[in-house]
Amino acid sequence: MKAAAVWQALQQTLTPNCAFCGLPRIVGYPLCTHCHEDLPWLPPEQNLPLPGGCPASVSAFAYQPPISSLLLSIKFGKNLRELATLGELTATGILPQLAKVPDAILPVPLHNARLHKRGFNQALELARPLAKQLGIPLLTRTITRSKATLPQTELDSSQRQHNLQQAFQFHTAAPYRHIAIFDDVITTGATARELAALLLANGIEQVEIWSCARTILRSKAEADTTPSFAHTG
Ligand SMILES: [Zn+2]
Repeated sequence: MKAAAVWQALQQTLTPNCAFCGLPRIVGYPLCTHCHEDLPWLPPEQNLPLPGGCPASVSAFAYQPPISSLLLSIKFGKNLRELATLGELTATGILPQLAKVPDAILPVPLHNARLHKRGFNQALELARPLAKQLGIPLLTRTITRSKATLPQTELDSSQRQHNLQQAFQFHTAAPYRHIAIFDDVITTGATARELAALLLANGIEQVEIWSCARTILRSKAEADTTPSFAHTG
């Protein structure tokens, strides 16, 4: 047996198992083929612009099981290993869809009190593999969250607007022209829109919105005109 073949055989023996089911995984990837194919990947044709005049948006997944339950369990369980796996999967879904690489990624900031309570910012941790693979920085000081807002999904439309007013502060005139905002889940898109407006108002020329998963709360009018985001596979 040649050295290369021995090395390859050894690699296969040492390959750890799928992060979801424990079966042998794809080499260099956290999942097995079956689990990979079972995920609710959001195809490019379903990555439509968010309602309300948002900049271009790219999400890896539809907000459906097992991604939705995984995100919730991470949020409340501090499961950093699963967070790293989900970050890798998010990068796998987003990278092939990018027309142009931005100068930096801005994870949606958490309010300090919430960050202290949770111990980590889910959006920041999920964006790490993307930033690493693209070789671009993660911006954690450009914008801070000065108000602990309520989840947008729990509010009506007038409360939503008020909820986000002056929630964020822009700090540094970053030397970047094109920034991707990153959130774990995009629901109404209001938070991302607020951040995008703040970046554009402070001289950033191009802003887009990325997320691990997205769901759309649709009014009847939207439901009549927008294609379904349901995962059909
Ligand atoms: Zn598996």
